[in-house]
Amino acid sequence: MARSTVSLRVDALLASGLLAPSGEAASTGGRPPTRFALNPQARLVVGADLGATHGHVALADLTGRPLREVAEHVDISAGPIAVLDWVVATIRRLLDEADRNAEDLIGIGIGLPGPVEHSSGRPMRPPIMPGWDGYDVPGHVRRHWDVPVLVDNDVNIMALGEHVTAHAALDHLLFVKVATGIGAGIISGRRLLRGAVGAAGDLGHVAAPHAPDVLCRCGNTGCLEAVASGQAIIKHLTTAGVPATTNSDVVALVRGGNITAAHAVRQAGRTIGEVVATCVSLLNPELVVIGGSIAQAGESLIAGVREVVYGRSLPLATAHLQIVPATTGAQAGVIGAATMVIQHALAADRVDEALTRSDRGGGPHAAVKAP
Ligand SMILES: [Zn+2]
Repeated sequence: MARSTVSLRVDALLASGLLAPSGEAASTGGRPPTRFALNPQARLVVGADLGATHGHVALADLTGRPLREVAEHVDISAGPIAVLDWVVATIRRLLDEADRNAEDLIGIGIGLPGPVEHSSGRPMRPPIMPGWDGYDVPGHVRRHWDVPVLVDNDVNIMALGEHVTAHAALDHLLFVKVATGIGAGIISGRRLLRGAVGAAGDLGHVAAPHAPDVLCRCGNTGCLEAVASGQAIIKHLTTAGVPATTNSDVVALVRGGNITAAHAVRQAGRTIGEVVATCVSLLNPELVVIGGSIAQAGESLIAGVREVVYGRSLPLATAHLQIVPATTGAQAGVIGAATMVIQHALAADRVDEALTRSDRGGGPHAAVKAP
């Protein structure tokens, strides 16, 4: 580009507030060059992570770093109107507390605990979300703010959150969530792979090799989720005379040294490893991250996964492959949801579009608006 073009564009970005001077660089003779950097405070994004029984909303800056957050008990089965009204009220509360204007908001990202058609933001026959099937989630939220509202399943946003927080330098990562259900988020070439309708990575109902004919909630038998999820481990332990009703019970038993529980979790890890080994052959990730509540049981689960993946995959795929526990914890969801919005709103063509719009008199805060 011509120097004048660059300077015009830099001026437009400075006027929008998205760019700010960040000191002078050392001179190589002549006038010292000025440095510019993204100004993370220029705008705000919202990341919301909704689970079966929790709601977590964060107001974040343009790097995805949460500035303020609220986590409460929220029942997803209360239906979309009650739950999304809670999300809207919580966003208002966070904006008030941060003393920031709603005009600063460039978008809202929402993670839901079920399959979502990403392009429309509508849940698709989600098994644990009565009343949500086909509901227009972005439409509901956009009645309050005219900004992009992006929706995805909880595993995809966790994968994004874990990637930007703990493994930002890596290009290819597979995130596997092991909790009440099992699912995966795939980062390939630094992008989240969603597939044709957003169902990529839905590992829970893949047939687990060598699995017993256990009936799954989807109607099939021998699904990975039916034999290796938190739910399956609880069932197994109860039959074996070790009382457990929640995933936290399983984690507590393993951490407390219960051999039956440790064995069950390790066996679940091996079964998950059989499916992960196939994914490794298909996707060739650099890193497999195991997250979700059952992963908090520690080494038992991950040892089972490693045992099978290293044993089954070809040496070329595993030579540099690492399999590690998730480290971002409860914040992964909100950071990932915020990241999803940032990647969308700060894409070059959208920034171009917004700058053109504000040039026509919309003012700097007209930048980066609705999709
Ligand atoms: Zn199934």
